[in-house]
Amino acid sequence: MNYFSTRNNKLSYSAAQAIAMGIAPDGGLFVPSEIPTVTGEDLKALCALDYRARAARIMSLYLDEFSGEELKGFAAAAYADNYDDAAIAPTRFPEEGTAFLELWHGPTCAFKDMALQMLPHLLTASLLKTGERRRVCILVATSGDTGKAALEGFRDVEGTKIFVYYPDGGVSDIQRLQMVTQAGENVGVSAVRGNFDDAQTGVKTIFADHAFAEELSARGWFLSSANSINWGRLLPQIVYYFSAYCDCVNAGRAALGEPVVFCVPTGNFGNILAGVFARRMGLPVRRFVCASNANNVLTDFINTGVYDKNRPFHTTISPSMDILVSSNLERLLYMLTGDAETRGYMDQLNRTGRYAVGADTLAKIQGIFSAGCCDDGQTKAAIRERFERLGYLMDTHTAVAARVLDEYRTRSGDSTPAVVVSTASPFKFAADVLDALGGGDGGDVLSALSRRSGLAAPAPLRGLDARPVRFPGVVEKDAMRGLVGEFLK
Ligand SMILES: *Cc1c(COP(=O)(O)O)cnc(C)c1O
Repeated sequence: MNYFSTRNNKLSYSAAQAIAMGIAPDGGLFVPSEIPTVTGEDLKALCALDYRARAARIMSLYLDEFSGEELKGFAAAAYADNYDDAAIAPTRFPEEGTAFLELWHGPTCAFKDMALQMLPHLLTASLLKTGERRRVCILVATSGDTGKAALEGFRDVEGTKIFVYYPDGGVSDIQRLQMVTQAGENVGVSAVRGNFDDAQTGVKTIFADHAFAEELSARGWFLSSANSINWGRLLPQIVYYFSAYCDCVNAGRAALGEPVVFCVPTGNFGNILAGVFARRMGLPVRRFVCASNANNVLTDFINTGVYDKNRPFHTTISPSMDILVSSNLERLLYMLTGDAETRGYMDQLNRTGRYAVGADTLAKIQGIFSAGCCDDGQTKAAIRERFERLGYLMDTHTAVAARVLDEYRTRSGDSTPAVVVSTASPFKFAADVLDALGGGDGGDVLSALSRRSGLAAPAPLRGLDARPVRFPGVVEKDAMRGLVGEFLK
């Protein structure tokens, strides 16, 4: 199977090339030339497998240059005792009609581990397959969770380095501590003055700098991305939609073939887009509910067809969704409209920060998605309400989705079984979760939340503030490139 750029489907690349390159030379994102299908029989077979085997099977459909044995090996390494739940991505059923797919049992306690524990295996194998001699430096802009998950995934991986930028003041205390105390000989981290979009724009500018690339190349390095624009990030995420569906079938919550609804807390649109691929492959999904916080650019887009990032940026208690430019939306536009139209929209977005899709495209979008948003107060109310009613504790991102799902059901009358995609451990956003429950009894927030909820804090989050800070620095936007140059000296 080949891969095209969303902005030009004349040029084609192998899967290994697409993963090694991260982003297409014309600035577009890689998309597969065809979508493989999964039949009812295939689904039934998947239901009998564990997560690792489900992952190897689904990924093999897109990666014909990789052997089945190779992919099984990657899955066994990526999803092992670095997860604190043997199911890897367990689906919980705390209430009638609504399941929670918990994607945060990995080493950084957020869903990005699902992809970033796998990506280093895919990437290093892809570099071998493409005959790349240079070493790769992963460059990341993070709104909090990607950076830590990428650092953990690439830490001390042979032939790689990783550098992470995060917005100064734009991530939670726990997220910041997780990154500035990161272990590993090949890692670097810095804050950038500005918000996430500033950090992301800075990183994109570095990637687009040809002179800089040549300078690095002469030193034996090239840059690649671990942001969710890399196909090697998106692919492992397709797996858990199948896995959750199988869990629902196995638990008797859905009959094989019966559709479900997925409600996904959304920022860069990577998580939910992986679901769209799963649906295209044949997974029975009635629709996706796209949930946003006060940064509701996607809610407006799905409801009106107008994407307009010219609006105030809000810092919320669900910071991993504080995003105004959702990179992966470009892949959806490509799937619905083709490369020429997508190129036009991206061009308009770059020039004016806005574009509007036609009525046909909007109808297609609304056939797949519903959308909603909520503010911080509503998010906290959702955490408290579900905890009091069910004893089930959600983090702030998952709570946005739960709240938006409730509203969707009331508005639409749709009572299809639903899966809320749960993207972070409540302990990762402990201060706000605790506040939602009415506050703690003093002392450190993790312990206070443990006492309040009766749950144990995940091991990777305990004792963070006792670890030495290795990366205290902050830079201005225009110093970002220089710092990367230093790092690769
Ligand atoms: C990254 C992240 C999201 C948003 O996912 P996208 O793929 O960017 O839409 C939601 N919740 C948490 C906890 C995250 O880390």
